[in-house]
Formats: sequence, structure tokens, C-alpha cells
Amino acid sequence: MTMPLGKHIRDEVRALTPYNAGLTIEEVMAAYQPASIAKLGSNENPFGPSPKAVQAMNALGSSIALYPDPLARSVGTALAEKLGVDPQTIIFGNGSEDLIGAVCRAVLNPGDVVATLYPSFPLHEDYATTMGATVERIVIGDDFAIPLDDLIAAANRAKMLIFSNPMNPVGAWLGTEAFRRLTASLSKDTLLVVDEAYFEYAALEDDFPSALEALKGSELNWLVLRTLSKAYGLAGLRIGYGITSSPDFKSYLDRVRTPFNVNAAAQAAALAAIADEDHVQAGVRYIRSERERLARILTDEGLKVAPSAGNFLFVDTGQPSDAVATALLRSGTIVKPWRQEGFRHFIRVSIGKAEDNDKFVADFLAFMRKT
Ligand SMILES: *Cc1c(COP(=O)(O)O)cnc(C)c1O
Repeated sequence: MTMPLGKHIRDEVRALTPYNAGLTIEEVMAAYQPASIAKLGSNENPFGPSPKAVQAMNALGSSIALYPDPLARSVGTALAEKLGVDPQTIIFGNGSEDLIGAVCRAVLNPGDVVATLYPSFPLHEDYATTMGATVERIVIGDDFAIPLDDLIAAANRAKMLIFSNPMNPVGAWLGTEAFRRLTASLSKDTLLVVDEAYFEYAALEDDFPSALEALKGSELNWLVLRTLSKAYGLAGLRIGYGITSSPDFKSYLDRVRTPFNVNAAAQAAALAAIADEDHVQAGVRYIRSERERLARILTDEGLKVAPSAGNFLFVDTGQPSDAVATALLRSGTIVKPWRQEGFRHFIRVSIGKAEDNDKFVADFLAFMRKT
């Protein structure tokens, strides 16, 4: 008999639940053979990356025999210029989720408290839990409002505050004045991590604070996370980045990541992608307009839909959403049933091209009228 794994695996790790990754097209095809698929479960960009990013990746040829630049300097220089920050404060990750792991490894001791908004991006909690930290959740209101006073109070009891703005899965966001109040009230003992995975979509809101702008001159230590996976359409290549409050902080994060965490293809594509801002902005404008169209259709049907500054909508189905999502799969529509306690009757649907959104609406409303 082999040793029970419980003897080897840490308690914190055994307590984790598997990540609820979206289904792939292949999985859905194999299980249901639908006539077509609308992949609206993972907040990807339906227009894909800039064609220039694909060209740059293809041009690598056999240079992929060599290790990539461990610091992704060419991308870092370009981004630093674009963002107006010191290149020594930019760190890259194998997706920004890699950097969520890195900051947790660098900062958290067993027993530390991490505050986060809830429902949350599960990895904000999972990497903290893995380190033995305790997570304090600040739950959004029934009207999807972010309880700012509770957030500030919890953050000031915590070693680290981490949340996404706009929130994933909800789409709600902390506005400019609320963000200002938060940072003005935050203790310098608390490390602030703002995950701006949906920044490019949210930046077009009248009342969305760029954390980078808002934190200029702040005495807090902070990390702002962004990614090439969402609006830039490079989810499959895995590249995200963080901007830190100081080169010192960045250098500590460098020590807890794998040295070659961003591959050569991702670096080449990212460099070309960030130079093609027109491609990103055209996609962003389209998705925002489709998002508003969809939200109106669903609310006109009497459904409860959270306000969203991202490329997705969080919809109350009034019943266990796993069953709803499974029913939609039969006709080839992939959405994400939310599986966190208290929000299991919600689905998160990504905004795609109009034809895919129409397919979702038709399938979803047909199902809802039957149940
Ligand atoms: C999608 C997402 C990420 C992960 O992005 P990658 O760069 O692909 O790892 C991080 N945070 C939030 C809130 C997300 O929704």
C-alpha cells in the first residue's frame, strides 16, 4: 500500500477546490456535438490579437531554441514608455495570475490576513490560502454596490488588500472618489494589490480611476496588475504584467518567480500587440456597445444584471446556475456558472461577437421561460 497522500500534501493545499476553468471548444464538441459554439465562458477577445502580434510570433523561427530574455526587457521598455513609469518597476508574469502567486509568496506568512471583495476572482483567495493566510471577504450588496466603509475597515486589519477593479465576476467597480477615499484611508501597513485585468474596457467609463494615476505620489506600497489576455487577445500565450510602487518591491517579486516565466513567443507577440492600440480600441468599443445591448435585453426580460465595466455580465438566473450552464452547453453556448457560496445562482457571460451574443440570448431566454 502506498502512503496516504494526506501525509505529504499540506493541509492548506488539500483544502483548495480545483479552479473552475472554462470549458474548451473540444470538450463541448465531444460531449454535445452542437451545430455551432458560442464560447462565452472565459472573457476572451472574440477578435483575437492584432495580426501584427501573430506575424511577430511567427517570425521567431528557430530562434525558439534559445531561452527568452528573463526580464522581457523589450516589452518592458515599450510599456514603460507608454505608461510613463520607470521600467525598473515593471514585472512580467506567465499571465497576471502568475504575479498574484508571486506577490502572495513574497508577502504572506501563515496566519496573515488578506482582505478581498466578494464574490472574487478565485485565485486572489487560493494563492493566499496556499500560503496559510486567512481571507476576509467583503461581500457586495444586493444592489451590487461595493461597501466602501467595510472594505476600508477590513483592509486596515489585513496585511494585504487584493481586489480586481472592475470586479470579476461582478463587473462593478470602485469609482474615482471611492478609490481616492480608500487609498487615503489605507494604513501604510497594508500592501495594496489592484488587479486591472479589464482596464482597457473600464478606462472608457467616466468614473473609472486608473490605479496607476490615482496612486501617483502615494506613500503606500502597491502593485497594479494588468494583462495581455483580455482586451489584447493573447490569452493563449500567457503574458501579464505588474507595475510596482518601487524598483525594490519589483526585485523581491523577481526572486519568487521562475526565471524564464514569460516565453519567447509571448514576448514577441506582446511587443507587437501593445504597439497596435487601434486594434485594441476597436475591439473595446464593439464589446462595450454589445454589452449594453445585451444588458438591456436581459433587464427588459426582468432579469437582474449587475452593472459592468468589463467584457462580461453577471446575471442572476434565480436557480442553481450549474443546471442553466449545462442546459446551454447542449446547444453550444458556453457560459461560466459561478460556484462561490452565496452566488451559485449567477452565471457570468462574456461578451462576444453579435452573432454569438444573439445565440446566447436565444438559448438562455428559451431556457428561462421554460423553468
Ligand atoms: C482573467 C483575469 C486574470 C488572469 O489573467 P491572465 O493574465 O490570463 O493570467 C487576472 N485577474 C482577473 C481579475 C481576471 O479576470
